[in-house]
Amino acid sequence: MSQIHDHSENTPHILVLGMGGTIAGLASNPDKDPLQYAAGQVEIGSLLDHIETAIPDGVCLISKQLANINSCNLTEPLLVLLGNAVREALENTKVKGIVVTHGTDTIEETGLFLQLICGKFAQNLGKRVVLTGAMLPANAPNADGPSNLLDAIQWAASPLDNCPGGIYAVFGGRACMAMDLAKRHTTALIAPIQSSPSSPLRLINPSWLSGVKAVEAAWAEDLPIPRGHEWPWVEILTSHAGARPETIDLWLGSKVQGLVLAGTGMGNLHEQWLKPLSNASKQGIAVVRTSRSGAGLVLPNIPEKDFEGCLAAGKFSAPKARIALQLALNAEKQAKSSGKSLTWQDFFARIAVLPEIR
Ligand code: ASP
Repeated sequence: MSQIHDHSENTPHILVLGMGGTIAGLASNPDKDPLQYAAGQVEIGSLLDHIETAIPDGVCLISKQLANINSCNLTEPLLVLLGNAVREALENTKVKGIVVTHGTDTIEETGLFLQLICGKFAQNLGKRVVLTGAMLPANAPNADGPSNLLDAIQWAASPLDNCPGGIYAVFGGRACMAMDLAKRHTTALIAPIQSSPSSPLRLINPSWLSGVKAVEAAWAEDLPIPRGHEWPWVEILTSHAGARPETIDLWLGSKVQGLVLAGTGMGNLHEQWLKPLSNASKQGIAVVRTSRSGAGLVLPNIPEKDFEGCLAAGKFSAPKARIALQLALNAEKQAKSSGKSLTWQDFFARIAVLPEIR
């Protein structure tokens, strides 16, 4: 753990957790080719040293390196580590807010994960957890990391009068709910936030704020974090022209517990898949339907009736629906062990109806 800036017992702390990513990346020839780089090279303490002079008054920064990876390699045990670190920090009365620096490739999974495991907790405590990252490595000319990191710290430290505690993300001068993040461009500087409803950081848009409040009202209870080795095995399969039944049949004899289907359009599945999918569902494999389209809702029984056991994932992309299904399957298991008869469908349905902020 490294500590910087005016550190006194009574000064509220902002904890910055480093997970790696391009924000901590280094290019070998940054002036010529900033996109040729290795992610997760610079320690979080050094990233903070570069912005130290601009840190808002009245807070001190504490940092902790949890990982330093390219987030394309994100693992479930790392999500557990992060989830526990965030919950522990939320409980700490000295910590006013938390910032997480993360690679953008899988930031959408982590954003939804944090919302589902501690969104309510953060809201009740009136603390902000803020995810951020960068699209250019730390040594690139015009690197976007320092301003994103500073904005995230400011958002975590700023008073709640204009916006409640909860799980947010900050990128390119805009804020959104972390669960609305989605990287939808390979290189644009605002790639992770551009398709999400968002608000300029210093001018909160009233419709966005009412959306945040609607999401927070709808999310009544956080879900447990699965233990590292207990994450349910869930795969993502994409429907496409020429889809074959074998793609589903192959999973029937496996230990897979869930399939997330990225359908075409409104979550349509190729007719070649329907029979084997219905068999999968009868065998107890959880099946969830999303869209490969990139935006818009997938609603139950639209345009055709869902086969028995298959749930629509609402606004969630396939990677987000996968996290949601894993947490729902784990919640079912934990509910059963404490004598409650709630199913994964009960938990998943609560997630799939979270409002879209528009
Ligand atoms: N591949 C990088 C990562 O996800 C991309 C980024 O951070 O922007 O770690």
